[in-house]
Amino acid sequence: MVDLKKQVQYVKNVGPNRVKLLNKLNINTLQDLISYFPRSYENRGILKKLINCVEGEEVLITGVAITKVSETFAGKLKIYKLMVRDGNEICTIIWYNQSYVKNLFKIGKSYNFYGKIEIKFGKYEMKSPIFEETGQNKNTGKIVPIYPLTYGITQNTIRKIIENGINEVYGNLEETLPSYILEEHKLMEINNAFKKIHFPENKEDFSKARYRLVFEELLTFQLALLKLKENYKKEEYGLSFNKNVNMSDVINTLPFKLTHAQLKVLEEIDNDLESKKNMNRLLQGDVGSGKTVVAEIASYKAVKSGYQVAVLAPTAILAEQHFENFSKLLNKFNIKIELLISSITKKKKQELKQRLQNGEIDILIGTHAMLEEDVAFKNLGLVVTDEQHRFGVKQRAKIASKGNNPNVLVMSATPIPRTLALILYGDLDISIIDELPPNRKKIDTFAVGKQMEERLNSFIAKQIDEGRQCYIVCPLVEENEEMDLQSVVELAEKLKNETFSKYRVEYLHGKMKQKEKDEIMLKFKTGKIDILISTTVIEVGVDVPNSNIMVIENAERFGLAQLHQLRGRVGRGEYKSYCILKFNSRSKVVQERMKIMCKTNDGFVIAEKDLELRGSGDFFGTAQHRNTRNENCKFI
Ligand code: ADP
Ligand code: MG
Repeated sequence: MVDLKKQVQYVKNVGPNRVKLLNKLNINTLQDLISYFPRSYENRGILKKLINCVEGEEVLITGVAITKVSETFAGKLKIYKLMVRDGNEICTIIWYNQSYVKNLFKIGKSYNFYGKIEIKFGKYEMKSPIFEETGQNKNTGKIVPIYPLTYGITQNTIRKIIENGINEVYGNLEETLPSYILEEHKLMEINNAFKKIHFPENKEDFSKARYRLVFEELLTFQLALLKLKENYKKEEYGLSFNKNVNMSDVINTLPFKLTHAQLKVLEEIDNDLESKKNMNRLLQGDVGSGKTVVAEIASYKAVKSGYQVAVLAPTAILAEQHFENFSKLLNKFNIKIELLISSITKKKKQELKQRLQNGEIDILIGTHAMLEEDVAFKNLGLVVTDEQHRFGVKQRAKIASKGNNPNVLVMSATPIPRTLALILYGDLDISIIDELPPNRKKIDTFAVGKQMEERLNSFIAKQIDEGRQCYIVCPLVEENEEMDLQSVVELAEKLKNETFSKYRVEYLHGKMKQKEKDEIMLKFKTGKIDILISTTVIEVGVDVPNSNIMVIENAERFGLAQLHQLRGRVGRGEYKSYCILKFNSRSKVVQERMKIMCKTNDGFVIAEKDLELRGSGDFFGTAQHRNTRNENCKFI
C-alpha cells in the first residue's frame, strides 16, 4: 500500500528549500502532489522541418550546431547566439543575459529546440527556446504539462518532482469507484487517470483521464452536498421572522421600481424567512442586476422581526460601499448600522463589539475582521455574504455559527449556468435575478489588436478630457509572479510618464498591502485618479459610476466569465461605457471568444458559451480547487 499522507519532503528530489515552495502551492503530502494538476499542456511532440515553419508558430525543431555560442554586448544587455542547421535551412537561436548557455553546445551535435519561430527577411530565429539534446525526450518531443507556479520553482523542477510522485504511487492507488460505475461510464482506472492527467501521450489519454477525475470529483461533491441539504431540510428549528413585517414598506421608499426578477427573488426569500425552515439561499445575478437592494430589504425584515444582521464583504472598500448603501435606505427606519473593518481604531472596535453584544447595533457590515472569535452578536438572525467566490464554505459556516441557526443569503455575481450552479452550490437553494434594471445602457465592447493602440489611447484621452475615468487591467500569469508585477509596474510607469503624462495615473496589484489598495481604490472612487492600472484585484463589485472605459490587456488570457465580471465595473453610471479587449493571438478559439464578448452583455449566455468552448472540466477540474492559489483563477 502507498501512504498518500506521506509528507512531500520524502519524495525524491524534494529538499528543504523545495518543501517550502511546494507548501506555498498548498502541496503538503504525496496526495497533494499527485493531485496538483496541470493548468495546461504544451504539445512539444510535433517535430517540424524548418522549411515548413510559419512565422510566429510554436514548434519543435531539430538542428545540428554549426557554430559555438557567440557573445556580444548591447549596452548592459548580453546577447548569445547559436547557429543550427536543419537540412538546408539555418536557424539562429538567441538568448539574452543567459550566460549559462555559453558552453552548453557542441559543434556537430544535434539538439531539439521548442519555441516561437520568427522569420526575418527569410532568416529563421528562435528566442530563448526550451532545448535539450536530441533523443533525451525530457522536456521536448512529447506533450508537456504546464503547472501553475510560484516564484522560485520552475516548470522543469515541478514536473520532475511530480513524475517522481507518480512513479511512487503508480499501480498502488486503490480504486475509489465501484466497478459497475467504471464500466457503465467507461471510466479510466484510477492509477492511469493520475498518470495520464500529468503525462498524457496523446489527446485521448488526456480526455479520458480528465473525464474520470472530474466525474469522481463531481460525484463526491454532489453526494456530500445532497447530504448537507438533506440535513438542512430536516432542521425545523430555524428562525421564523415576523409575518407582519412588510417588505413593501421599504420597497415603497426606493427611488426606482424593482424589476420583476427582483420581486420574484424577494418573494422566495420572504417565504424562507417566515418559515421555520432555515434559509440557505444563493442569490445569483449578473453584475449590476441589483442584488444589494434585495439584501437590504431582507435585512429590514430581519431587524424589524427583532434580529441582528451580519453582512460580510470580501474587501474593506466593498464593505464601505455596502455601508453607505444600506444606510441610505434603512437609516430612516431607525435601524442602527455600523461598519467593522480592520482599519478602524482598537478603541472603536472595542466599542462596536460591546454594542453589538448588547444588541444596540442592528446591522453590522464588515470584512473578515467580523469572523474573529470575540465578535459576538446578541441575536444574529440573518447572514449576508457578498461575492461568494471570495469566501469558502468554512467562512460562511463560521459567521453563521455566531447565531443560533441564522438564515443565510449568499450573493454571487459569477454567472454560472443553472445546471452547474445546482451542482456547485448544491447545499443552497438558488434564486436568480435574470433581468437588468431598465435604465442600464449596453456596454459597447471591442476586441482590438496592437495596431489600434494609438487610436485607442487618443479615445481614452478624449473621454478623460470629458471628465470620465478609465480602468486598464493586465493579467497576472503565475509562471513568474515577480516578472508579471514588474510588467504591471512598467506599463504603469510608461503610461504615466509618456502616453498619458497629462493625466493622473496610478496602479494597483495583489502584492500591495490591503491598506494601500484601499487607499488607491478610494482615490479612484472619489475621482482623484484618471486612469487606474491594475491586475484583477478590482474584479469585485466596486462601484465607480464615473468610470466608463475598461481596457483589458492580453484579454485572451482571461476566462470569459472573468472578462464579463471585469466589464461589469463600467456602465454603472449615466455615461455611455466601453470595454476594449486587447488581444494578441491568431487562435480561432480566442477569436471566437472575443466575438462572444462583443456580441452579448448577458452573463449567463457568456457562461454557457464558455462552457461550450472550454468544456466543464475547467469549471470543476482545476479552477475549482485552485481558486485560492492564484489571482487569475478565482473563477468560481
Ligand atoms: P449588483 O447586483 O452588481 O450587486 P447593485 O446592487 O450594486 O448590483 O446595483 C447596481 C446599481 O443599480 C445600484 O446603484 C442600485 O441602486 C441600482 N438598482 C438596483 N435595482 C434597480 C432597479 N430595479 N432599477 C434601477 N436601478 C436599480
Ligand atoms: Mg454587488
